[in-house]
Amino acid sequence: MADGAPTAISYPLTPPPADGSVVEVAPGVLWARMPMPMALDHINVYLLRGEHGWVVVDTGLNTARCRELWQHITATHLGGLPITLLVCTHWHYDHAGLAAWFVEHFGVRVAMTLGEYFTMRAYAQPAPDPLPSTQRNFYRHAGLDDAGIDALFAGVRHDPFTAPAPRSYRRLRGGDVLAIGQRRWQVVIGEGHSPEHACLYDADAHLLLAGDQLLPRITSNVLVSDIEPEANPLALWLASLTRLERLAADTLVLPSHQEVFRGLAVRTRELAEHHAHQLDVLRGCLEHAPQASAVAAMHTLFPRRRGPFDDMLALGETLAHLAWLRDAGEVRRTLDAHGIHRFALTAAGEAP
Ligand SMILES: [Zn+2]
Repeated sequence: MADGAPTAISYPLTPPPADGSVVEVAPGVLWARMPMPMALDHINVYLLRGEHGWVVVDTGLNTARCRELWQHITATHLGGLPITLLVCTHWHYDHAGLAAWFVEHFGVRVAMTLGEYFTMRAYAQPAPDPLPSTQRNFYRHAGLDDAGIDALFAGVRHDPFTAPAPRSYRRLRGGDVLAIGQRRWQVVIGEGHSPEHACLYDADAHLLLAGDQLLPRITSNVLVSDIEPEANPLALWLASLTRLERLAADTLVLPSHQEVFRGLAVRTRELAEHHAHQLDVLRGCLEHAPQASAVAAMHTLFPRRRGPFDDMLALGETLAHLAWLRDAGEVRRTLDAHGIHRFALTAAGEAP
């Protein structure tokens, strides 16, 4: 670790309540919170003061309460200036759920990466019913029976927060620089939690709008989904952490959940260690239960789950760790007579 780098995570600011209040994190950078009726009960949103108005980063959920809070914030805290642009770090509906409403209501464009924008467009429609065979097979391979698959989709199909997507956008690319007021924000791409997640980094002031790439005490979901069954998102996620770790050691991290913090490299290391630990748990599981299915491994890795949405995330995350082990040559996958993928540790020296 570089001299003078923080050796622990610290929280220099008291967060605003999720009631339309704001906290100034740095000159021209405001922090507000939107409520969420979930275990994770808020999302942080940020406002960046430009010359002629404000750039908003992330929206909160598509709920009446969040829309009301945005009306309050724009009427109260923006010094009479308008919102000029919405940036969404990624497509998840706590971050971009009000994107279409912002476009209509404030007359602004939404800026996103290509990967996030079109993923948002795809998920604006619920999964087709009946499920296409490719989707059904993905869950069968994982070890769910038909009743299990139907239960999973019955639970997630009518998600109340699924939001409409705006029909046009402004594309962000990795390395782009957004000049907003006196600040220059560089787009830094993260992968693994979502396809092309945009962080914004002010290299002069050492500020990082981190989205979900770097949260101080919880870990972001890293999952394989039925859209890309052969993906290895954990490798992408760990590579993204390595890239973020190279930013200035004293960077003030503005995450999408929990509190603004310092100790970026401490946290990237903790997150890498968390996944190394999960991989170890999986190795142990496969040692005791060779030929386990992904669902069986999920019960070991995530013994506590709260419903179909949790099940989907836990299964996807288990598959992500299994994919990493397969790509590393540590685990072999075979399809059994019932159409279930079986995972086993490879013997030393054996080709996976
Ligand atoms: Zn997210």
